[in-house]
This record gives sequence, structure tokens and C-alpha cells, in this order.
Amino acid sequence: MEKREMLYEGKAKQVFLTDDPDLIVIHYKDDATAYNNVKKATIEAKGLLNNQISTIIFKYLIENGIPTHFIEQLNDRDQLCRRVTIFPLEVIVRNVIAGSMAKRLDIPEGTKPSNTIIDICYKKDELGDPLINNDHAVALGIATYEELDEMFELTRRINVLLTDLFKKLGITLVDFKIEFGKTSDGKIVLADEISPDTCRLWDSQTNEKLDKDRFRRDLGKVREAYEEILHRLTK
Ligand code: UDP
Repeated sequence: MEKREMLYEGKAKQVFLTDDPDLIVIHYKDDATAYNNVKKATIEAKGLLNNQISTIIFKYLIENGIPTHFIEQLNDRDQLCRRVTIFPLEVIVRNVIAGSMAKRLDIPEGTKPSNTIIDICYKKDELGDPLINNDHAVALGIATYEELDEMFELTRRINVLLTDLFKKLGITLVDFKIEFGKTSDGKIVLADEISPDTCRLWDSQTNEKLDKDRFRRDLGKVREAYEEILHRLTK
């Protein structure tokens, strides 16, 4: 398998074509952005840590029957994955209220809702990834109702698996964002990454934040928090 030209460059990752049209290489960078690109920085070793963390999490989900794009970790910064067409949707799961929902609805961060909340946002930087609903997604041609149902069903299973995994490590999975893609043979699979960049992870005992909020909110010790997550996942 040969790494070829770059297909796409995002905020935290690059995607490369390979000599196999169904395979891509995802390269994890140290760049971090927040608030729709307003805040930018490089967090040394973040790419290495997120590659490791996301690999462990995707392997765990695959072992538990979740279809994903992940094939294997190639080296410190690269993963081999199936090429998919990404649905331009951020599927967000909230087990505890935090971040934009806390702000938008004036609910104190840390409030536990009676039910799990799933939000969908339209992935479009120019619009600031607006919150939408199923009807919007269908009207915009992002997905069909059946595809949305399939994604939500997978999302609920992923949430149960991840909540359980992190609970055993003394971590509360507050919320997270996932993305789905469609393979060349029409299968919906989990894609992108799952890491402290895309999850809110609080120490269960102290509620200390062990995720990207340390960067967003200038709390310091960003790298140390990501290292702590990797450390607990590999213990
Ligand atoms: N999230 C993400 N990418 C985004 C927006 C959100 O990975 O573009 C994650 C974020 O890290 C958090 C969850 O989705 O774990 C919910 O984020 P929220 O809507 O509260 O937005 P934020 O407060 O990050 O602006």
C-alpha cells in the first residue's frame, strides 16, 4: 500500500489517497482550533496521542460489532482507513449538559438530563456548523430518513459502549461528536476520530476536565490531560 497525494486537509488531520481507490491514510497533526477557527494553536504531540487514543477506541467499537472505517494504525501519526463519503453532519451525544447546550439554553454545566440527548449539526464552516433537525437534513439532501435512523441507532449503541468503557477508567463521558460515512458499496460506517478533541471527558471523582476544553478555556496542561486519557486506556 503506497501513500499518494493529499486528498483533503482539515483542522487536525490530513487525508491521503493510496494506490487502492477504497483505502485512505489519515494523518494526525498537532494543530488545534476552537470556536470555528477563531482560536488556533499547536499542541505538541497531540497528533500522536489522538492517533493512539482513537485507534484504541475504534478497535474496541469494532470488537463490539460497530461498523467503522478503521483498518489499522500504520505508525505514530497515520491510520489506514476505508475511503468513505462523509455525511456533512456532526452527530452529538449529550449525557451531561455542557458547552454550547449549557450556554444556549442557560442550563448549568454538569446538569444530568433525564434522557440522552442527540443533536445534529450541519457541517459547514461558513455557517458555523448550525444545529439542524431531521427534516432539515433530509430537505438539504444530507441523508434520507432511513439513513438518519441507522446513524442514530449506531450512535446509541456507541454511546452505551463508550460510556461503559470510560466509566471503568474513572471517567465520565459528558458528550461527544461523531461522524458517519458511506462506503463505495453503500454501507454506513462510523468514520473520523474519537479523541479528547471530540469528547468531553471529566474525571469521575474530581470532575477535572481531561479534554479539549483545557485548550478552549485556557485551563493549561492540555497535553497532560490527553496523556492521562491514553494512560488510562492502556492500563
Ligand atoms: N465537538 C466536536 N467538533 C465540533 C463541535 C463539537 O468535536 O465541531 C464536540 C465537543 O468536543 C463536545 C461535543 O461535541 O465534546 C459537544 O460540543 P458543543 O456542541 O457543546 O460545542 P462546543 O461547546 O464545543 O462549541
